[in-house]
Amino acid sequence: MPGKPYISIIIPVYNEEGNLQPLFDRLYPVMQKIGKPFEIIFTDDGSRDRSLDILKRLAEAYPEIKVVEFNGNFGQHMAILAAFEMSGGDIVITLDADLQNPPEEIPKLVSEVEKGHDVVGTVRQNRQDTLFRRLASRIVNITTNKMTGMRMSDYGCMLRAYHRDVIDNINCCQETTTFIPALAQTFASNPSEVEVAHAERAEGESKYSLYRLVRLNFDLMTGFSVVPLQLFALMGIVTSLFSVLFALLLLVRRFIIGAEVEGVFTLFAILFFFIGIIIFGIGLVGEYVGRIYQEVRRRPRYVVRRTHGFGE
Ligand code: UDP
Ligand code: MG
Repeated sequence: MPGKPYISIIIPVYNEEGNLQPLFDRLYPVMQKIGKPFEIIFTDDGSRDRSLDILKRLAEAYPEIKVVEFNGNFGQHMAILAAFEMSGGDIVITLDADLQNPPEEIPKLVSEVEKGHDVVGTVRQNRQDTLFRRLASRIVNITTNKMTGMRMSDYGCMLRAYHRDVIDNINCCQETTTFIPALAQTFASNPSEVEVAHAERAEGESKYSLYRLVRLNFDLMTGFSVVPLQLFALMGIVTSLFSVLFALLLLVRRFIIGAEVEGVFTLFAILFFFIGIIIFGIGLVGEYVGRIYQEVRRRPRYVVRRTHGFGE
């Protein structure tokens, strides 16, 4: 066993068989060049392809490689959290397995942390994703910053570095649904951001369908602020004020001009608008209630089947 690592690299893996060896071939020399003790922890998030076999082989061949084997698919953020709990480095860096985040950027992040920043975020330069994903990210970044009061330019980029103190705080959180960059930001006292390159996914397909992206963003919004609920309550007050005014107007009109029939469809339109708002509001409340339900159940957030390379 090597001594206590200085840097921990954490990589969630879900069906990435084609990417693991190329990733390792680029990552390992970078880490060796830094010249400090390191560990690389892969979490296999219930892959159904050969990913786990490849990882186990790597763990046997290299003492720095460790593997956490999940019992099923618990999601990217749970995979990272599990590895956080197993990690020992003073500097912890998260990375995607699909080579969209170039490993060559790691030394830059390390030196930022060494300058005294406890969270180092990244901003993707020349982002290589579809136009739809880029637009969606832009909206998410702006609204999340507004709602949570945080300052982050790129919530989506997972290539990030954290100081041990921040990781210890994250490990104390027992949230069942979370969004790690935002969670870390709440514990950061001196965050910074650097620009990093971004590449196209090397092999395979994105694991995020439109539905999973929407879910993830609900986690981000409702997990870190109650502003949606407050906005909604505010909107309720404003609309009810307006509807009182509207009713008064109709009443006065009825006395002066007589009962109105022509405006029936306008009324319908207004009604549908309000019904839409109400349904949205119920959904929003449901989102929070659902989260409370998940929290009070206190189920294990993930199940580790086995670990490899941790000196067990
Ligand atoms: N991932 C995971 N569990 C999941 C989905 C994704 O561990 O349920 C991993 C995946 O293997 C990759 C990273 O999370 O290393 C980012 O996933 P992906 O590249 O599909 O997301 P995108 O880049 O499209 O946002
Ligand atoms: Mg990707």
